[in-house]
Amino acid sequence: MKAIVAHAAKDVRIEEAPEEQPGPGEVKLRLATGGICGSDLHYYNHGGFGTVRLKQPMILGHEVSAIVDELGEGVEGLSVGELVAVSPSRPCRTCKYCQQGLHNQCLNMRFYGSAMPFPHIQGAFRQSLVADAIQCVPAGELTPGEAAMAEPLAVTLHATRRAGEMLGKRVLVTGCGPIGVLSILAARRAGAAEIVATDLSDFTLAMAKTAGADRTINTKDEPEALAAYSVDKGTFDVLYECSGAAAALVGGIAALRPRGVIVQLGLGGDMSLPMMAITAKELDLRGSFRFHEEFATGVSLMRKGLIDVKPLITHTVSLEDALSAFEIASDRSQAMKAQIAFS
Ligand SMILES: [Zn+2]
Ligand SMILES: [Zn+2]
Repeated sequence: MKAIVAHAAKDVRIEEAPEEQPGPGEVKLRLATGGICGSDLHYYNHGGFGTVRLKQPMILGHEVSAIVDELGEGVEGLSVGELVAVSPSRPCRTCKYCQQGLHNQCLNMRFYGSAMPFPHIQGAFRQSLVADAIQCVPAGELTPGEAAMAEPLAVTLHATRRAGEMLGKRVLVTGCGPIGVLSILAARRAGAAEIVATDLSDFTLAMAKTAGADRTINTKDEPEALAAYSVDKGTFDVLYECSGAAAALVGGIAALRPRGVIVQLGLGGDMSLPMMAITAKELDLRGSFRFHEEFATGVSLMRKGLIDVKPLITHTVSLEDALSAFEIASDRSQAMKAQIAFS
């Protein structure tokens, strides 16, 4: 079987890799679709991000759907031939944070396609994958592409939970890549009354509008438009900061009303903060990282038709052309979510 392996920046290869057999509690999967995420792009373009560097070849990918091929001993609730969304999150379930229900903070997390630990955790962009049955959520009538959106959707559902009460709130989303646009869908589903989205790309802002943003602002073309929301100590109750850019965070904080909530999703490295404004307006600054039970919640919301991720999938390429998908996905003027069809 073939796998997509990152060796270094701009050196990603489609290589032959050994197939594994499922043990007790495991399933053998035939990959259907894999979505390219920002972190995959960092490995592809730069060989890592921040202090995280590729130190050995690593199979990329963590946003995948698959067909169940074979059940290991004792597996129930899944059947051969069905489509599943595969959660890339593999917490140990025994460390102190897992015991407290904070699985996304697991001390021994084995998240697919991550070079944070060494040896690196191999990813899921491979034609054949053995996973724990517990990672697999039946996707029913969803398309393989939709099912592969469960992971980024779960990230934004977790962020929405971190944001707290959403009903009737005024929401600002800064950064309209896939996480920003999915945040719009998640916030609306949770009851947000008004959603304003900012970015520097007209293409991603059009996507934000399609997803239901009431207003979009290109902060490069209209730098003053967001500032209007800063009058009388600010307007928005919640900020989803999805860009990881310090300028977006600073502009967003100015537009938050007193006691507003900042949910930081963007991973832009360490940023300096306007601490005086945070203090004086009594803002809550909350990080949000990965997810756990929200993965199955996301699949359920999609299956019920309560969240539609299909418009976000702008490109689907075959495994043979997978390397071109990384180039396409890197271009914010034309790509939202690029996916690889493995079969
Ligand atoms: Zn992802
Ligand atoms: Zn743990």
